[in-house]
Amino acid sequence: MSLKSILKSNPFNISIEIFPPKNADGDASLFETLSQLAPYKPGFISCTYGAGGSTQARTLELCQRIQDEYNTPVMAHLTCVGSTRQDLIDWITKARAAGVNNIMALRGDAPKGSESFQKVENGLGNANELVAMIREHFSDMGIGVAAYPEKHPEATCADTDLKYLKQKIDAGADAAFTQLFFSNESFLRFRDRCEQVGITIPIVPGIMPITEFARIKRITAMCGSVIPIELATKLEAVQDDLQGQFEVGVTYAIDQCRELMEAGVPGIHFYALNKSHACERILGELGIAPVV
Ligand SMILES: Cc1cc2nc3c(=O)[nH]c(=O)nc-3n(C[C@H](O)[C@H](O)[C@H](O)COP(=O)(O)OP(=O)(O)OC[C@H]3O[C@@H](n4cnc5c(N)ncnc54)[C@H](O)[C@@H]3O)c2cc1C
Repeated sequence: MSLKSILKSNPFNISIEIFPPKNADGDASLFETLSQLAPYKPGFISCTYGAGGSTQARTLELCQRIQDEYNTPVMAHLTCVGSTRQDLIDWITKARAAGVNNIMALRGDAPKGSESFQKVENGLGNANELVAMIREHFSDMGIGVAAYPEKHPEATCADTDLKYLKQKIDAGADAAFTQLFFSNESFLRFRDRCEQVGITIPIVPGIMPITEFARIKRITAMCGSVIPIELATKLEAVQDDLQGQFEVGVTYAIDQCRELMEAGVPGIHFYALNKSHACERILGELGIAPVV
């Protein structure tokens, strides 16, 4: 099912983002997670594309398996890193053959060891070019793009970043999924600004439930999302207690999701980190039950 139809068929969708595990144990644990979360009938499950272009084949392999085993729509992430335009066309052709109807179209980050993203010869320089290429060659493919309520770390200012988001949307994206954030105020301000520049596609908030303080500090240091001081203080108070961190993080995410739903968001994209416990707790508290 394509992203447009998914969004049309339900006024509110949850989606779950996973990443390709590094080994067989990771695969087994991922599929346990998916068996727990698939009954909540997510609008789709998305699978990331390795930074620096690694694990490209795994993304498609996992998408195909998820679709086959859980009969749930999937979205394969794709970045421009290290690929020519033709490489990208070939990959999407394979994705299509594997039954993938949705692509999260991304520029990607610099590969390990490089300072900044570099477009390869005959490659694409930004996500808007990837969106345009997909629309040109695969017109009915569902397309998601990334959005940054707290600004992309490389962007010189929020207005320029927004201008480039609009460019991706004008190139043909169906919905935008945000970078993880912990300040609903930032998201709601961003949503207003999107509306002001004429962005009308769904802007879906990305929520990462905190389950480990050290891990979230590493992640936010890379992606630039801000941990509000009150939340950081609560997490610091339980820094030697993993279960305590889980409780603080998940309680925070429940409140965050509740408020976002009250503000009428079209869905929530969960960065599940291949684990189900936090998402299950949150969904339960939000009154979203598994369908048996
Ligand atoms: C929902 C989501 C999923 C993600 N999944 C993955 C994944 O699977 N794999 C992965 O490696 N990374 C992933 N990322 C991270 C993403 O690759 C990085 O944030 C990356 O740095 C930017 O990608 P983008 O598609 O937003 O790029 P772009 O939209 O191209 O933006 C990148 C930067 O360039 C600027 N810019 C945009 N267009 C132009 C233009 N035409 N001219 C000049 N400047 C421009 C923007 O303001 C921004 O600063 C994901 C991020 C999100 C939010």
